Amino acid sequence: MRDQVESQKKLKALNATYVAQLPEKLEQLDQALGQLSHTVWDEQSAQTILRLVHSLAGSGTTFGFASLSDAARNLETYLKQLAQAKAVMNNDQSKHIQRLMHELNQAAVSSDASIADQSGWIAIAPPGQGAAKPRRIFVVEDEHELAEELKIQLGYFGYDVSVFNTLADFRIAMEQTSDVVVLMDVTFPEDRLGGIKTVYEIQQGREIPVPVVFLSAHDNFEARLEAARAGGIAYLSKPVNIGNLIDRLDILTSPITPEPYRVMIVDDSVALTSYYTTVLEQAGMAVKAVNNPFNVIESLLEFAPDLILIDLYMPECNGTDLAKVIRQLDAFVSIPIVFLSAESDLDKQLFAMGFGGDDFLTKPILPQHLISSVTSRIRRSLMLRSFMVRDSLTGLLNHTAIKDLLDGEVAWAIRHKKPLSFAMIDIDHFKQVNDNYGHPTGDRVIKSLSRLLKQRLRTSDLVGRYGGEEFAVVLVDADSSTAMKVLETIRETFSRLRHLVDEKEFTVTFSCGIADVSQFSDATKLCDAADKALYKAKHAGRNQLMLADNSFTSGKKD
Ligand code: GH3
Ligand code: MG
Ligand code: MG
Repeated sequence: MRDQVESQKKLKALNATYVAQLPEKLEQLDQALGQLSHTVWDEQSAQTILRLVHSLAGSGTTFGFASLSDAARNLETYLKQLAQAKAVMNNDQSKHIQRLMHELNQAAVSSDASIADQSGWIAIAPPGQGAAKPRRIFVVEDEHELAEELKIQLGYFGYDVSVFNTLADFRIAMEQTSDVVVLMDVTFPEDRLGGIKTVYEIQQGREIPVPVVFLSAHDNFEARLEAARAGGIAYLSKPVNIGNLIDRLDILTSPITPEPYRVMIVDDSVALTSYYTTVLEQAGMAVKAVNNPFNVIESLLEFAPDLILIDLYMPECNGTDLAKVIRQLDAFVSIPIVFLSAESDLDKQLFAMGFGGDDFLTKPILPQHLISSVTSRIRRSLMLRSFMVRDSLTGLLNHTAIKDLLDGEVAWAIRHKKPLSFAMIDIDHFKQVNDNYGHPTGDRVIKSLSRLLKQRLRTSDLVGRYGGEEFAVVLVDADSSTAMKVLETIRETFSRLRHLVDEKEFTVTFSCGIADVSQFSDATKLCDAADKALYKAKHAGRNQLMLADNSFTSGKKD
């Protein structure tokens, strides 16, 4: 609540700044136009003038001054026609410009007067959007065994699961529940599509629909269609792939995923970037504003946004060129780029999208529209990205993803002089586990270690499946002695886990090599050092940790 009041204050202050700067902008425009009369339009001044008018047209409504936007847009349309004709301006035209300019000034003055009652105009999306949601799951499944299995598995990933074996019980529970994700079986004894129908009923009259993931043994179009109509967010076939399911659930319950959505805004107007920043921050997002397109690449690498909003018209480098440059970077090939501009010409919008843009939002845009389009784009992109970066057996980051992220984290840690450790883990004598108990049992052991790592490490740490039975962990903000302590506890716990197969019990251990960024100052050296330390741990008898140090690595290298 206090945040909201603070944001409203901030927005009011931005409004006041905007109003305060209006006279100067109008003056600039007036002067530029004055120099134009009785001369031929040259490219340079035409561009400057059109940009000034265009920015007034785009920002007016954003700051609550619709009549100012209208007046600016009229002027813009007229000036565009003149600029295209490239002729000497005649008296009539000059007079018409003056009239339009007069209207614009009038609109600016009246908006100045209306600043006092601006408090009600901004409608921000409900604050819940950015707030942490509990990871509560309702599993509705008539097969008792499967329901219990799901409860156990999801529990490992930090979900709080309640099981309902009948639709009636679930209905009663839903009467007083809202913040929950539902895992719903499609078929129940009483009705082949009973799960879907029940969801359809409980969604009625709810302002915010309950997110539902359907599980079904039958994959047919009719059921999928009904599920989508009932507001189903995903439709997964049985047997359930837990890795897949966890990915979906992690995204659905998102803002609790460690970081808020990250949005970068590139716009030459400081007033507009401040405004959009405030709107998106109030919705719980992390925002980085860049006013000079030449600084974008550096900021991209450091800020690592989930989405980029780009103004189409900027001096020196326009939005489409900037999008092309961003798409040249491997790490940002798939990041959503959304153009934000007062350009309402569909042809021009489509042209801009041809250069790697994903969407086009027209200025002025209402805060709630900005928030909802940014949110849905990011949510979808994160889901798609999770398929590319996650390992399907464990749901951990895959080899490429963890290496990419390591690069970024190491660069960040070095620049900010923060500690960081990297650990490589390899299960001991894993071949024997497979040979003695079978491959599926081996898989279960891999999963159990992956769960343990997820549970015991902080959400800010990165855990990846590096190879078959190898894992990599990036411990952010942890020096090697901290990392050693944490991983030693995990090693101990893992070695005591009892794995069960056909009523026989066995235990498994792992070895681990750790390297610290204070000694190995780039990602490649760090990886190399951790790998060598792991090798040393294996040779020293396995089931232990080994710390890499400089002398050890250089000794090996020589
Ligand atoms: P060491 O202690 O030296 O690491 O011995 P090890 O047997 O673990 O080492 P090695 O690397 O020779 O064997 C790893 C085995 O892991 C070989 C491979 O069949 C098995 N493996 C790799 N990926 C998977 C997987 O996804 N599932 C299962 N069940 N086994 C896997
Ligand atoms: Mg091994
Ligand atoms: Mg191995």
